[in-house]
Amino acid sequence: MKHPTTLRVWLTIALVALAALGITVNVFTGEDGSTTITVKVKGPSGPTTVTAPEPAVEALEEDRHHDGAANERPEGIPLEKLIEGEAQREAFAERDQLPLTTPDAAPQTPGCNSRFIRTNYSSRGRVKPRLIVLHITVSPDRGQSGVNANTAWFANPAARVSSHYIVSGDGHCNYVVREVDNAWTQAAYNRLSLSIEITATQSQGYLLRSGGHAKVSRLVAGMAKRWGIPIRRGAVNNSNCTVTRSGIVDHVQLGKCGGNHSDINPYRGQIPKIIKTAAKVRTSSANDARKIAKWCRSLRITRAQVRDGRTTPQRRSRARSLKTLLINRGAPCV
Ligand SMILES: [Zn+2]
Repeated sequence: MKHPTTLRVWLTIALVALAALGITVNVFTGEDGSTTITVKVKGPSGPTTVTAPEPAVEALEEDRHHDGAANERPEGIPLEKLIEGEAQREAFAERDQLPLTTPDAAPQTPGCNSRFIRTNYSSRGRVKPRLIVLHITVSPDRGQSGVNANTAWFANPAARVSSHYIVSGDGHCNYVVREVDNAWTQAAYNRLSLSIEITATQSQGYLLRSGGHAKVSRLVAGMAKRWGIPIRRGAVNNSNCTVTRSGIVDHVQLGKCGGNHSDINPYRGQIPKIIKTAAKVRTSSANDARKIAKWCRSLRITRAQVRDGRTTPQRRSRARSLKTLLINRGAPCV
């Protein structure tokens, strides 16, 4: 893409300003004339980059689908009602005492690339999340490339929007705002929520393929376990922006309190299936944990027997196979 000279000058000024904030955005033109945007983010072991096609990022910029998502006092709700909602959050903060600052070591979520943005999020203000909110980006499902385009847009300070995770239809996933932080996705409910953006348009006819369904369900199960959120449909009171039942909700369900957005329509009917699969994941991982604990006990006993000279070829082979099983599951007892 060719930019007129003046546009290039303004673009350069904007990029220098972003660089001063520690945010670097680079535009590259390939030999075939296609352009890509590269933004610097934080990975698990230091700075890394996300690359996305420039037209895809520009389309998100023009669409501004999640405008207003950062505003915790959204329009259309009387001030006294907003204050009632804030009182609930203050009461939760008193009870939860979530640390205001957390170690900067980047956490990881299995199955997702850690690509932490440096802007467009804030502190949860000691409140633990109670809701897992499902969204669609209203941008095309383009696999990892679409996930990266949304990450690049969230990394731009002009976006004023973000999400904890972005997942494609086939299950590519970027983890972009740490769960302990406050992503800007659903206005007055931000501090009470964890958010998953699925790259899908409202007209493409599907929300998730099987890989994406499995990934989102695993993410939901993991979040539910980490934060003690029940795997069930959640509920809210949109007259004063309060949570009445913790669980899994979608953005349209949050009404004006959530910034008055129409996603995850037209795919609301898929949510019970995600909840069902997430509940199955939780049960099977609990069974897995029990199995691992049993193998660890068995390995300890076998090793003690070997140490005491009560070793037999069978016991030695049993210890070896247990060790392999446990290493494959990443069990710390090996
Ligand atoms: Zn949304």
